[in-house]
Amino acid sequence: MYKDLLKLLPATSVSFDEPMCNHTTFKIGGPADALVTPHSTYELKTTLEYCLSWQVPWMILGAGSNLLVQDKGIRGVVIKISELNCIQIHGEQIHAEAGARLSQVARCAASFNLTGLEFAEGIPGSLGGAVVMNAGAYEGEMADVLLEVEAIRPSGERKTFQHSELNLGYRQSIFQHNDYIVVAARLALKTGEEQDITARMEDYAQRRREKQPMEYPSAGSVFRRPPGYFVGPMIEELGLKGFSIGGAQVSTRHAGFIVNTGGATAGDVLQLIGIIQEKVAEKYGIHLQPEIRIVGEG
Ligand SMILES: Cc1cc2nc3c(=O)[nH]c(=O)nc-3n(C[C@H](O)[C@H](O)[C@H](O)COP(=O)(O)OP(=O)(O)OC[C@H]3O[C@@H](n4cnc5c(N)ncnc54)[C@H](O)[C@@H]3O)c2cc1C
Repeated sequence: MYKDLLKLLPATSVSFDEPMCNHTTFKIGGPADALVTPHSTYELKTTLEYCLSWQVPWMILGAGSNLLVQDKGIRGVVIKISELNCIQIHGEQIHAEAGARLSQVARCAASFNLTGLEFAEGIPGSLGGAVVMNAGAYEGEMADVLLEVEAIRPSGERKTFQHSELNLGYRQSIFQHNDYIVVAARLALKTGEEQDITARMEDYAQRRREKQPMEYPSAGSVFRRPPGYFVGPMIEELGLKGFSIGGAQVSTRHAGFIVNTGGATAGDVLQLIGIIQEKVAEKYGIHLQPEIRIVGEG
């Protein structure tokens, strides 16, 4: 059945039994039945039509930087939108396709002396993934700069969501609760001083290098921050820094990260998550919720 995709799309856009460990920053994950990388909106629509007519499950993959794909992989079609990545500057606004790297959009903004997106330096996601997660850092988040978001449904219905319709909150957006695919976004920035913008970005990059375990694959902060607490110090106080199961380890540098020190399975990571949740619940009476998206079959 999946081979029918080759009748609709160029062979370069489709692969089968594709190991997802090659498409996630965690470097973990079993195979997807089919992986489609559309090179145009037409190919994206064709893929969605195929999934709808064959009733095949599908999911969108951005840069795979907030994902834990389970070890038996993903049934259905994974649609990787990284090739839809055009970035355009119009005065103080940026219009970019969802597959563009967020850090590239931020650097593009900086090169046009536009300020407001410096916080995005070092967030390794796509623009679409950043919209879905309302990604943020260092007192900034997507909600501060998003003007509108263009999205499409598998049926082909298109909608432009205005900022007020996006339900943006802490790592939350409406796209976590509907079946729209983010295809592009318009950001509103302000003209600033090039030196100040690049100095802020360099400062954020430096802070990441100092505090985050960049030397190992990970998916960033594993848990959502409970109100009034910081997850890293809570886990550290429990003596879990460096604790590992298989190749999955609570980072010795930042206890809010789980890193893949080599050969970690999703099963290892999930066990580690379970232990952390149990111990945090015992000591603090708080149930830590994963921020990372856990997908596929275990
Ligand atoms: C080292 C490291 C540091 C990080 N630092 C930060 C940080 O400072 N702040 C922060 O907020 N996050 C951080 N993250 C997490 C991650 O980069 C963000 O959550 C990012 O926004 C995810 O984007 P992505 O393209 O990788 O999404 P993916 O991981 O590919 O997908 C995440 C979810 O969004 C969905 N999705 C993706 N694109 C679309 C689309 N176009 N339309 C509809 N659904 C879509 C996917 O189906 C999935 O459910 C970090 C991660 C790493 C590895």
